[in-house]
Amino acid sequence: MEVANNKLLKGADLAAKLLMQVAKDAKDLKSKDVPLGIAFISIGEDPASKVYLTRKRKIAASIGIESIDCNFNENTSTEKLIYEIEELNKRKDVTGILVQLPIPKSIDSFKAINAIDPKKDVDGFTVENIGRLITKQKCLVPCTPQGCVALIKSVEQNISGAHAVIIGRSHIVGRPLSELLLQENCSVTVLHSRSKKPEEIARTADILISAVGEPKLVHEGWVKPGAIVIDVGITRAVDENGKKKLIGDVDFENVINKVKAITPVPGGVGPMTIAYLMKNTIDAAKLFI
Ligand code: NAP
Repeated sequence: MEVANNKLLKGADLAAKLLMQVAKDAKDLKSKDVPLGIAFISIGEDPASKVYLTRKRKIAASIGIESIDCNFNENTSTEKLIYEIEELNKRKDVTGILVQLPIPKSIDSFKAINAIDPKKDVDGFTVENIGRLITKQKCLVPCTPQGCVALIKSVEQNISGAHAVIIGRSHIVGRPLSELLLQENCSVTVLHSRSKKPEEIARTADILISAVGEPKLVHEGWVKPGAIVIDVGITRAVDENGKKKLIGDVDFENVINKVKAITPVPGGVGPMTIAYLMKNTIDAAKLFI
């Protein structure tokens, strides 16, 4: 389907621009002998996690950030994981630590994530960073919400007073994004699985963000004419030819004629998430200078 180029919010292009700046900052820090290294912690052999980690490591390498691989088997205990995270907290060459989600249910993910030194918490998921975010103090901010705001502002610089509707209230996307949009002076509504008449509410949004993980949940009945639509959702599927594909939450072709701008899946929010992970790693390294 032909899509007017000015409607398509290509995260890959915006991410490439951000990464150029991040690479410059990385070079500058390295010239001052500041170490730059992300420890990628993963547990088990989840295939999707492996794909994400490979991509993150590749981009890190391209801008001069070292990757430290820490894969544990799925029988690892919470205590063992916390011990390993505490060891990484002490290392000077590790300036960022990330736990690739999902992790097995047998591990207490809350305890594990909160064992990360908040100054190395490049995903911004620790209680300290989330607390600092909502009290508007300097902190490491979750990457996907930062990416969403940058995409929105690439279309509309001033979003003060706009009604933003976020579908999904997770700790990693919906909730921190609601805070960032409040800080932009949007009026924010957050929908979730128990919301009544979500379609009716979504239809009042100037900015509509879906972070659910349900393919094609959002169709034209959910979209106000002229809205900016950000599709965070990713569902892995296989097409009729047996080829793997990614599907977003938004029925792209069904809404395209109504929107002002929309992110594709893939190539929308995903690249921005990784770019902000790299930016957070640089910001974290600066905290140790
Ligand atoms: P999550 O923790 O499973 O949260 C999903 C949220 O959607 C929950 O708040 C849930 O409500 C809500 N929900 C479920 N069904 C709904 C419905 N029918 N109507 C309205 N709300 C509904 O997921 P997540 O970790 O936030 O991720 C969400 C999606 O984004 C996934 O597809 C994930 O793969 C993707 N993602 C993409 C990126 C990226 O970089 N592109 C990054 C992170 C996540 P309840 O709270 O009531 O259960």
